[in-house]
Amino acid sequence: MNTSGILRIENLKKYYQVTAGLFSKKVGDVRAVDDVSLHIKQGEVLGLVGESGCGKSTLGKTIMRLEEPTSGEIYFDGTDVIKMGKQELRRLRGKIQIVFQDPDSSLDPRMTVGDCIDEALIVHDIKNPDTRNAKVAELLEKVGLEAGFAQRYPHEFSGGQRQRIGIARALAMDPKLVIADEPVSALDVSVQAQVLNLMMDIKEKDGLAYLFISHDLSVVKYISDRVAIMYLGKIVELAGKHEFFNNPLHPYTEALLSAIVSLRPDGKEKIILKGDVPSPLNPPSGCRFHTRCHKVMPVCSQKEPEFREITKDHYTACHLY
Ligand code: ADP
Ligand code: MG
Repeated sequence: MNTSGILRIENLKKYYQVTAGLFSKKVGDVRAVDDVSLHIKQGEVLGLVGESGCGKSTLGKTIMRLEEPTSGEIYFDGTDVIKMGKQELRRLRGKIQIVFQDPDSSLDPRMTVGDCIDEALIVHDIKNPDTRNAKVAELLEKVGLEAGFAQRYPHEFSGGQRQRIGIARALAMDPKLVIADEPVSALDVSVQAQVLNLMMDIKEKDGLAYLFISHDLSVVKYISDRVAIMYLGKIVELAGKHEFFNNPLHPYTEALLSAIVSLRPDGKEKIILKGDVPSPLNPPSGCRFHTRCHKVMPVCSQKEPEFREITKDHYTACHLY
């Protein structure tokens, strides 16, 4: 199998067992990630979009084995992640960094900003304190903050500044891939663009790759090279950004795009999705989207559509094609 690219995953599944009763009898599986295959090239941003609960965060965590995959394959820089032992996993978790929506989850409130970043540097075995202080200052400046902020505590900063500190901490590890899980969703709109610009700058300078997770297509449009759409644990469409926004194939993608005035294709009406996202514990038969699809056909509830290449580098799973 082809293991090229900084990250490649094949048929990845993460099911959570659901149990009930006194003897914890298994009643089913939450299919949080259900047969996902994708790759990310070095220096590339893959945007991953989907409604809340569709499995985006689980996918991010499973890639680093913060959650153990149920089945499937993961290759990072050509190396099999599933086979990694404890030591190799620790190294992997330096090379892949997650930036969360809530920066506070990675910043200890009792530590100064400098110590929060320094803690990450220790992994690099830099013994000389002057060298480490210089590196902390360099990282703070890199994310647009003053070096003098190192002496202050996280709570003294705004949400946007704390997210910058979180990014500086992630960069201290010299990662090759950053999994950004809704990194700007908790920030004021006015601050979102600044943080996104920062992430873009860093990407250009350091040749970083991102898995950029968001529920917001307009954010993803800004930052991504390619876009993947996830629905109930599955990728339903994947294409280069330009192709994706100009020629969406999947009815779910059409509906998501039509909901945003600035992204709606010319002359198209807004498509209102029927109902709520069904439970991943008991997903609909056939195509999982058929219960909400405005183009549903009889075959859709019977047979699961195959995820396949329709035009060059444009993939979708839909019986229309
Ligand atoms: P998203 O990030 O897209 O909002 P998540 O990956 O957080 O979605 O969750 C996907 C599904 O998996 C949800 O139905 C969620 O309830 C379920 N899930 C997530 N983590 C666990 C867990 N530790 N145990 C059981 N179910 C979980
Ligand atoms: Mg999430």
